[in-house]
Amino acid sequence: MAACDLLVIGAGPGGGSAGLHAARLGLKVMIVEADPEVGVPVHCGECISHLAIENLNLELPEHVIALHCEGIRVIFPDGTKKLLSEKGYVLEKHLFETWLCDEAVGAGASLHLSHRVTSMERIYNSENQFTNWIIDGRGIEFPIECKTVIDASGVAGAATKLLDMPTEVEVIAGFQYEAGVFATRLCLDDSEKRRQSKCWPGDDRQKRCDKISRQIH
Ligand SMILES: Cc1cc2nc3c(=O)[nH]c(=O)nc-3n(C[C@H](O)[C@H](O)[C@H](O)COP(=O)(O)OP(=O)(O)OC[C@H]3O[C@@H](n4cnc5c(N)ncnc54)[C@H](O)[C@@H]3O)c2cc1C
Repeated sequence: MAACDLLVIGAGPGGGSAGLHAARLGLKVMIVEADPEVGVPVHCGECISHLAIENLNLELPEHVIALHCEGIRVIFPDGTKKLLSEKGYVLEKHLFETWLCDEAVGAGASLHLSHRVTSMERIYNSENQFTNWIIDGRGIEFPIECKTVIDASGVAGAATKLLDMPTEVEVIAGFQYEAGVFATRLCLDDSEKRRQSKCWPGDDRQKRCDKISRQIH
């Protein structure tokens, strides 16, 4: 049976980061990811602040950064606008997550794609003391024996469901579009004086960009 100190469920940014830091500390780490690929599909605006990256003790390579930005302007469906002035990046999030997992593997973790956790069992010794977990699922490495589990399965909440833990989380369904190749202008504030909007697909692109720009102001 495969065995490790720490099993991480999910290879999103949470799982990649947890796996990396635990491996850096010398733990034997396995990261299991249900999907066949890390970071796909992207379900995120891909923005992250310098502060968050600092707190994670990461040094981002340039290929995972799509844009350096001064802040973000968020426009809510009711028209409310908020300017967050913290400096940061727009990421190529799939590349960021892949890089994070590669770093974790470089630090000694193992990554197992197409491995979905479907059950978690606590094991106790003859004195009724917890000794370890047996984690089962779909994928050749299962079952896996481990001392500790980090559930980084995101909104799926794998452990919460499998262990029947009470939760009051409300999940709101939504859509995210990733546009193909067409002319774009910077979506984030690229300077205090010249603020521009995100791309606006269609025939009359420039006009539409300018219109959105004016609305954002
Ligand atoms: C539309 C949208 C825009 C967003 N914009 C931003 C933004 O601009 N900036 C920002 O910082 N955040 C943003 N977020 C939030 C950000 O995407 C999440 O906070 C982040 O992805 C959470 O990371 P995670 O690793 O915890 O979970 P996830 O990224 O959800 O990763 C969980 C992983 O676990 C895997 N998994 C699930 N169940 C199992 C299982 N049983 N066994 C094995 N693997 C499993 C999944 O396949 C997935 O790969 C946005 C989110 C949305 C929806």
